[in-house]
Amino acid sequence: MSMANLSYQSTRGGEKGLTASCAILKGLAEDGGLYMPSMIPRLEISLKDLAEMSYQELAYEVMHLFLTDYTEEELKYCIRSAYDSKFDTEEIATLREADGAYYLELFHGSTIAFKDMALSILPYLMTTAAKKNHVENEIVILTATSGDTGKAAMAGFADVPGTRIIVFYPKGGVSRVQELQMVTQKGENTNVVAIHGNFDDAQTGVKKIFGDQEFGKRLAEKGFQLSSANSINIGRLVPQVVYYVYAYSRLIKNGKIEEGDGINITVPTGNFGNILAAYFAKQMGLPVKLLLCASNENKVLYDFFETGVYDKKREFILTSSPSMDILISSNLERLIYLSTGCDAEANRKLMEQLAKTGAYQVTEEMRTRMADFRGGYATEAENGAEIKRLFDKTGYMIDTHTGVASCVYRKYVEETGDTTPTVIASTASPYKFSHSVMEAVFGDQGDKEEFAIMDDLCRAAGVAIPPAVEEIRNAKIRHNRECDVETMESTVAEILGL
Ligand SMILES: *Cc1c(COP(=O)(O)O)cnc(C)c1O
Repeated sequence: MSMANLSYQSTRGGEKGLTASCAILKGLAEDGGLYMPSMIPRLEISLKDLAEMSYQELAYEVMHLFLTDYTEEELKYCIRSAYDSKFDTEEIATLREADGAYYLELFHGSTIAFKDMALSILPYLMTTAAKKNHVENEIVILTATSGDTGKAAMAGFADVPGTRIIVFYPKGGVSRVQELQMVTQKGENTNVVAIHGNFDDAQTGVKKIFGDQEFGKRLAEKGFQLSSANSINIGRLVPQVVYYVYAYSRLIKNGKIEEGDGINITVPTGNFGNILAAYFAKQMGLPVKLLLCASNENKVLYDFFETGVYDKKREFILTSSPSMDILISSNLERLIYLSTGCDAEANRKLMEQLAKTGAYQVTEEMRTRMADFRGGYATEAENGAEIKRLFDKTGYMIDTHTGVASCVYRKYVEETGDTTPTVIASTASPYKFSHSVMEAVFGDQGDKEEFAIMDDLCRAAGVAIPPAVEEIRNAKIRHNRECDVETMESTVAEILGL
């Protein structure tokens, strides 16, 4: 199949033949499925040549293969607008070697978590898509967040003409910094709602609103249409493929590997978006051997890769890595779909089972097709110990999510002796989770105030406090809306004045 024929289809079979821009605009398929490209394109330029490119140039080489109905001019405009001085380094993503592993720092954007990598470009991809498809309606972005997506999405969409954004987060389920970042968000078109429930409740609630066709009609009558900034949007996944290719190309450039050498990738995982992007990179031809999927104590994915049974019927645990406190990893559906051999019917049945019974089991054949993945998990104590160990040994401070990945990677090496060069996705700045990080390294912080802890962190780690943190130190609270899980839809109606 030639590239020009690449189109998007639902993982549940209801829709086929969509353009990339249309899939990005819609976010989620009407049948509840996720959009998938009809094939995963191969890289067209050698890794050695990619090693000579800037992040922006490389981003184009990767993304244009997926976003085939964007013109070169359109896509380059989106890339240029997204990856600019919002990032505090020209490299956009940096590789930091510590204790024998390569930490890929994905937190140099405006909200200091990896969500910025995709959410700084999504608004441009989406408004360009709206123009291309002659959309007259105002686009309403509905997003459930475990803490980082919400802020990064609002930062991206704030005051973007023709859009509004409504973010739902679990009250009490995010860090203090995450909450402050969200409730102080500026922008006439931004809305933040704390729900009385956990992240899965928020995510399920949002999916339900998307699936409510009556509500969709009411919205359309008032000139609105919904879209999603969650990692289920293909417009989030594609930009995330870029930095894995980029990391490999920098390893070549820095003389750490030769073109063609295999690497392993370890990703701290929640909704399975980030690690799926790494898998896409592998499918494009990046020499990746193993994808190590790291979970915290909510280890539903670890159990899945061990047994072939996905079972969400378990206690939801609040951990110090809240962005990974997830029991329903939405993007796993894309891997399930691929491992059925793109059998939408088989996938749909499994997802129905999950919704009805809370669990499903995949076949041995499907498990064989997922053999590139291996699961691991870290307990709270193990995570804290790893953050401290790495800091004591190298002076490098990592956040609690990266700590989970680092810990899982070290345990894997101990078990297997595998010495393959390994990239660990570093998904947040330690400043975003200063309390937990400082507690791990220096012990109980008592009732010390969050910003005082950050000042301590700054002294200990010798890394400047990012502007994202300084911004919220004295910012005014602008959002205080709360609602129950059952009233999410009516809350949206109220906000939009339906
Ligand atoms: C969102 C997030 C994760 C999990 O990423 P997924 O793509 O949902 O698997 C991990 N770490 C941090 C800091 C995050 O914000």
